[in-house]
Amino acid sequence: MARTLIRNATVITVDPKLGDITRGDILIEGSKIAAVGQNLEAGSAEVIDATNKIAIPGFVDTHRHTWESLLRAAGPDWSLGQYFTGVRVVMGGLYTPEDNYVANLLGAYEALDGGMTTLYDWSHNNNSPEHADGVIRGLQDSGIRAVFGYGNANAEWFPPNEIPTDWADIRRVRKEHFASDDGLVTMAVAIRGPQFTTLDITEKDIRTARDIGARITIHVGDGLWGLSKPLVQMDGRGLLGSDMTYVHCNTIGDEEFALIAATGGTTSISPELEMQMGHGLPPALRMLEVGIRPSISTDVVTTVPADMFGAMRALLAGTRLMVHMKALEEKRMVEPLPLSSRDVLEFATLQGARACGLDHKTGTLTPGKEADIVLIDTNAMSLIPVNSPVSAVVEFSHIGNIDSVFVAGEARKRNGKLLGVDFPAFRRKVDATRDALFERAGAPTDGSWVVKPYQEEKNLQF
Ligand SMILES: [Zn+2]
Repeated sequence: MARTLIRNATVITVDPKLGDITRGDILIEGSKIAAVGQNLEAGSAEVIDATNKIAIPGFVDTHRHTWESLLRAAGPDWSLGQYFTGVRVVMGGLYTPEDNYVANLLGAYEALDGGMTTLYDWSHNNNSPEHADGVIRGLQDSGIRAVFGYGNANAEWFPPNEIPTDWADIRRVRKEHFASDDGLVTMAVAIRGPQFTTLDITEKDIRTARDIGARITIHVGDGLWGLSKPLVQMDGRGLLGSDMTYVHCNTIGDEEFALIAATGGTTSISPELEMQMGHGLPPALRMLEVGIRPSISTDVVTTVPADMFGAMRALLAGTRLMVHMKALEEKRMVEPLPLSSRDVLEFATLQGARACGLDHKTGTLTPGKEADIVLIDTNAMSLIPVNSPVSAVVEFSHIGNIDSVFVAGEARKRNGKLLGVDFPAFRRKVDATRDALFERAGAPTDGSWVVKPYQEEKNLQF
C-alpha cells in the first residue's frame, strides 16, 4: 500500500476534536488518512516537506451546473432573465453528448485545480441517455470525487411546465453506472421542485428518488420564484427529510427554515452568484438561528468563477454587510462581527461533505477518512507573515497559492500543476468544442453576445 507523509505543515483539521496543529504531519496510507499529529514516523513512506504550507481538507462545492463550463464568462452582466434565455433557450438544447462530456471534464479539472476535492454536479442538461453518459464520463475521467445529481433535460426546465421526469433513464443510470455507492463518483437526484414544475411531479420525484436510494437536492427561495413557499408546499405532502439539500434559500420564510431544521435537511448557499443575480440576501444567519450550518457552492461559471476562496469571502462580506447596514440605520456599532473565518472554512469543507452525504468519507482531516487534502503554499508576498492560518486561507489565499491537491490519497495537483493533464491538447479540445457550439448558436465570443430576458421569450415555441 502506498504511504505518503506530509511533514511539517500547519494542519487545520476542521475536526473539532483535533483542532489546528502547528508543525503537523499527515500520514496517508492508500486512499485514507492513517494518522494526523506531530513527529509521525515516516518509515518507508514518501515524505513531502510541507514547511510553510497550510493543510486543509479539500473544499466541497455542493452545487455546480458543471455542463455550463463551456459558457464560461459569457454572462457576468446578464440578469437572471437573460441568463435563463442564454443558457436554456439558446444553448442547452444545442449541446451534444460530447459537449456535455468536455464541459464536465473541464469543470472537474477546474475544481481540482481550485482545491475542490468533491464536486456536486447539479446536472440539468441530460437531454438523452447519451447526454447523461457524457457528463458522468467527464466526472469519472477527471479523478475528482463527485456526486452526479441527475437533474432532468433542458426542455423540462422551462417554467412552468408539466413534463414528467424521465425516471426510466434515471433508473438506467443508477443500474449501469452507480450500482454501488462506494465509488469516487456517486449518484443523487437533482429535482425541479414546485418552483419549476407541479407539486404532483415533485412528490413523485422525491418518492422515486427515495425508492432508488438517492439523495435529493432542490432549488428553493431564489428571488421572486422562491416566494411561493416551496417548503410549505412540500411539507404539506410530508416530503421533507434529512436526505434533502436546499439550494439558495434566500427568500424562503422563517417557518420554512424551521421546517428544514426540524426535518434534518442541509443547505447550500451560492453567495457571489446570489448577490449578482438578485436571488436575495445571503441567508447564513437565518440558517444559524435555527441551528442549520450551511454549505457553500459556486453555481454557474457563466457568471461567477468556480472559486471557493471568492465564495467564502463573498459570504463573509455579504453577511456582515447586512448586519452593519441594520446597525447603521439604528446608529450603533456591531460587536462582535457575525460569522468568523473559521465558520466559513467549516461551511466550505465539513458542511459541504454533510450536504453531499459524504461526511463519513471527507470534509475533515480525520484519521480513517479518505485523504482529500489541499496544501496552500504561503511563500507568497500576499500571505507573509502568517499571523492567523485560518484567516490566511479564507481571506487572503487564491487558487494560485494551491500547491497540492490529493483526492482519496492520489495526488491530482503537485507543485502548483495539475497532474495527468496535457493542458495544450485539452485546451485545443475545449476551444474546438466551444467554437462549434457557439457557431451552431450563432453566438459571438467577443463579449458582444446580448440576450433578451426570458420573460420576453415565454410565448415562443421551443
Ligand atoms: Zn443552481
